[in-house]
Amino acid sequence: MRAGRVREMLHTIEREARLTASLTGRCCFAPAVMEALEEVPRDAFVPPELLNQAFANGPLPIGLGQTISQPYIVALMTDLLKPQPQHRILEVGTGSGYQAAILAQLVEQVYSLEIIPELAAAAAELLSRLGYRNIAVKIGDGHHGWPEHAPFDGIIITAAATHLPPTLLEQLRPGGRLVVPVGLPDMSQELLLIEKDAAGELHTREVLAVAFVPMTGGEQSGE
Ligand code: SAH
Repeated sequence: MRAGRVREMLHTIEREARLTASLTGRCCFAPAVMEALEEVPRDAFVPPELLNQAFANGPLPIGLGQTISQPYIVALMTDLLKPQPQHRILEVGTGSGYQAAILAQLVEQVYSLEIIPELAAAAAELLSRLGYRNIAVKIGDGHHGWPEHAPFDGIIITAAATHLPPTLLEQLRPGGRLVVPVGLPDMSQELLLIEKDAAGELHTREVLAVAFVPMTGGEQSGE
C-alpha cells in the first residue's frame, strides 16, 4: 500500500519532468536524486491529519503559515544543484526538514537555516530521530547565510526572495550552484539557477514559473 504510493509519486515526478523538459532543460532527473526521493519517508514530514496525502504531488501545510514543497519541485531543485557526495550545501528555509533530508542522502553535509524557531526545533528533532547525522539546523535569517561554514558547493533557497541576497552569492564557492525562486508573494515567481564560474562570474538561467511562500527577514534586519 505505502510502497505503491511511493512508486506512484516517483512516476508522477518522472511524468512531470518530461512534460516540463522544454522549460527546465531536464527531461529526467539524476538516478541518485530519484533514489533519495524513494528513500526519504515523506509521510514522516507531513502533519498526521494529512497522512493520506503524504505522497501526492502537491505542497502541504505544515503549520505557522508554511508548507512542505511539492515532490516534483523538490526533485527539480535538488537535480539543478547537481549534488555530489563530497558537497557541503546550505539550505535556507528548513520548514519540515524534508528537502534537507533529501539532500543529506546525496551530499556530505547539509546546513539548514530556518527563521521560525518552532519549525527549526521540530525539524531538528525529527531529522535526528530519523537518524540523520549530517544535517545541522539553526534558527536564523537566511539573508545572512551561515558564514562560519562558507563557502558552500551549493545553496538552495526554498522560500521566494524578492531579490538575490548578495551575502548568499558571496557564500557560494566558484563552480557552485544556487537555486532560488525569485518574485513577489502571490505574484508570478521564477525559479532561477545561478552558476558561479571558476572566475567568480555569475550566470543566471530562468528555469520555471513557481509559487513559494515568501522569504521573510532581510530588510527588517538590515540584511
Ligand atoms: N524546505 C522546506 C520548505 C519550507 S517552506 C521543506 O522541505 O519542508 C519555506 C520555509 O522558509 C518556511 O519554513 C519559512 O519559515 C522559511 N523562511 C522564510 N524566510 C526565511 C529566512 N529569511 N531565513 C530562513 N528561513 C526562512
